[in-house]
Amino acid sequence: MPLRVLAYIGGSGVLKLVNERVVGFSLDYLDVLWEIQPTSEDVQKYQFYVERSESQAGPWDLIAGPLLDIYRVRDTSALQTSNLRKFFYRIRVVNMIRDVETISAPFDREGGMDLIGAEIARNNEVVFREYTGVKCFVFPVRTFGQRCTQCWDATLEQITNPRCPTCFRTGFVGGYHYPIKFWAQIDESDQTEQVSSALRTEVKLDALRLGVLPEIKPRDLIVDFKNRRFRVTKVGGTRRLGRKVHQEVHLSQIEPGSIEHVIPIRVGDDELLKPARTFTNAHNMEAEIDHNSLDMASLRSLFRF
Ligand SMILES: [Zn+2]
Repeated sequence: MPLRVLAYIGGSGVLKLVNERVVGFSLDYLDVLWEIQPTSEDVQKYQFYVERSESQAGPWDLIAGPLLDIYRVRDTSALQTSNLRKFFYRIRVVNMIRDVETISAPFDREGGMDLIGAEIARNNEVVFREYTGVKCFVFPVRTFGQRCTQCWDATLEQITNPRCPTCFRTGFVGGYHYPIKFWAQIDESDQTEQVSSALRTEVKLDALRLGVLPEIKPRDLIVDFKNRRFRVTKVGGTRRLGRKVHQEVHLSQIEPGSIEHVIPIRVGDDELLKPARTFTNAHNMEAEIDHNSLDMASLRSLFRF
C-alpha cells in the first residue's frame, strides 16, 4: 500500500507500512493487522493509531492508539449487521521525536490488488478519465451513527419527516459521509413518465460505470456534472481474486424538489467536469491544448461546461 507522507523531512524518520489487512471470521469483531518494513530506526519512537470509516474519504474514527510496538488490533465495535456495510481502516504513524506523521492508504476486508488487477484498473481509469467519463460525486450514505435529533422516532424506529434537513431522510445526523469525486461513464435511459389516474411520476433509471474507487453501495447518493442527483439501487461489477476491478452501478434519478437536492455540494469554478486533455491525435494520445483554435479546450472556456 502506498504511503501518503504529510510531512517528510530529509528522507528518514518515517516507517513504511506493509501488508495491512483486515481478517476475522466472526460477526463480533474484525482483526486489523499491519507490519513495518525492516528498518534501522528505533521503533519505540513511533506511535500507531488505527482509524476506521465507512467511507474511504472519511470522516475517520479513532479505534485504537497510541500503540507502541503493537501491530494488531481487534476491533470489537465494528457492527457487522448489514451486507451492504463496509469498513475501511487506515493506520496513522507518528514519529514522536520529529513530529512527522504518515497515514496509510485506506484498506479493507478485500485486501490489496495484484499486479494484473492493478493494470486492469489502471486501463479502466484511463478510459474514464480521458475518453468517456464525466466528473461525478458520491455521498456514501450513513448506516450507523447518531440518530437524527429532529425526526427520528425511537418507538416507531423510523423517520417521521421525509423532508428533514438534519438527516436528509436517512435517519442519521448529517445523512451522508464526505463526498468523493470520481470519473464515470453514464449510460442514460429514455425519459419516461408513469401515468396513473392519481399522479404522474417521472421514472428515470440510468446506469453508471467506473473503476475501482470509490466503492459504491446501494442507497448512496450520486451527483453528476449537471447536478442531477441519483440514488444507487444496485452495484455489480467484475472481480479478480476477490477484489473489485470495475463497478457497474444502477441508478434511479431523484426528482427535483426532493430533500436530496438540498444537500450542499461545493464544486469550485475551476473544477474540471469533463476530461481535460484535448487530443490532437487520438491514435497516439498526443495532446496539446491550444486556446487559439476552436478545440474542446477553448469551447470549455466559452461555455464553462
Ligand atoms: Zn431527520
